[in-house]
Amino acid sequence: MRILPISLPTPFYIGPVNVYLIAEEPLTLIDTGPKTRAAAEALRAGLRKVGFLVSDLRRIVLTHAHEDHCGLARSLRDEAKNAEVLVHTWETGHRGGRLEYEEHRTLLLRAGVPDEEIESMRRLYEGMRLYADSLADDECSPLWDDAELEFASGSWRILHTPGHTPGSCSFVREADRTIIAGDCVLKRITPNPILSPDPIDANKRFRSLAEYLVSLARLRTFAPTMVYGGHGDPVSDYDELFNRYLRAIDARQKAVINRIPKPGATAWELSRGLFPDADDVHRFLAVSEAVAHLDLAESEGKVKMELNGVKEVYRRR
Ligand SMILES: [Zn+2]
Ligand SMILES: [Zn+2]
Repeated sequence: MRILPISLPTPFYIGPVNVYLIAEEPLTLIDTGPKTRAAAEALRAGLRKVGFLVSDLRRIVLTHAHEDHCGLARSLRDEAKNAEVLVHTWETGHRGGRLEYEEHRTLLLRAGVPDEEIESMRRLYEGMRLYADSLADDECSPLWDDAELEFASGSWRILHTPGHTPGSCSFVREADRTIIAGDCVLKRITPNPILSPDPIDANKRFRSLAEYLVSLARLRTFAPTMVYGGHGDPVSDYDELFNRYLRAIDARQKAVINRIPKPGATAWELSRGLFPDADDVHRFLAVSEAVAHLDLAESEGKVKMELNGVKEVYRRR
C-alpha cells in the first residue's frame, strides 16, 4: 500500500501543505490543499505523475478542517462523482457559514482582546474562508476514534488526536507503525493550539494544550517509525520531536507565567508582550497560544484566574 506525498502551494505564511495519496483500493486522498487554482493544478499534476486522475478518487479524508487542508474537498468530491468525504464531527472549519462567529467573539472578549482587534480578526477570517468551499454535515461521513479505514490489502486505524483543533485526526498503519498526523506533528515548528469553543459546550473553551499533550503521548505509544505531517518533511525520530516539543511547551509556559505583572494581566496583554511584532493573522495565533498556556498553567495550579467584568485576568500564585 503506497503512501504518495504531494506538496501543494498555499497562499499562507506556513508555505506548502502536504496531502497524501494512498494508492490502493479505494483510492484515498488524505487532505486536499486550499481552494486555489495553483493548488488544484499541482494536485492534478501530482496525481497524473503516479497514474491517477481526480475522477479516480473514491475517498477524501480530512485530518482537520483548516483551509489549507480541506479547501478543495467539495470540488474534488464533485469531480470524482461523489467520492466520500470523511472528517471528525468536532471539526467546524469546513462548514463555512455556520462557523460560530459569536462563540469566537465571546472567547476573544474573555481573553481581553479589544473590540477593534476582534473586528479586524473577523475580516481576516472572512478572507480566509474564500480558500475553502463549505460542506454541510450531511455531506460528510464521521471519522471515529479507533475505527479502521479499510483498504483492499489492509487498514489504517483512525486516531482522534485533538489539540491543534478539536477534531484533528491521525492515521496509523500498525503493520509498519507509519503515521499520517496532519498538523499534530510538524518537523520544524511546534503547532499552534488554536483558540476554539469546546465542541460539546460552546460556552466553554476547548482545553487545546492539555488535549494536545495527551495526543502527542498517544502517538508515542505506537513507537512510530515514520510520521507524515501536514507541512514539511516527514519525521523519522518521533522521540526526538516529542521531547523537543515538551521542552518548547515548558519553556513557553514559563515565559508566559514570568510575564504576568503583579496586578495581573489578560491573555491578550501577555500575548502582545510575548509577540510584539505579530501582525494581523499572527495576533490571533498569539492570543490563542497565550490562552492555551494559561489554561494549562491554571489547571496545574501555577496561576489563578479572576474575572474582571467579562475579562479573565491571570495572576501568579
Ligand atoms: Zn491546521
Ligand atoms: Zn496546516
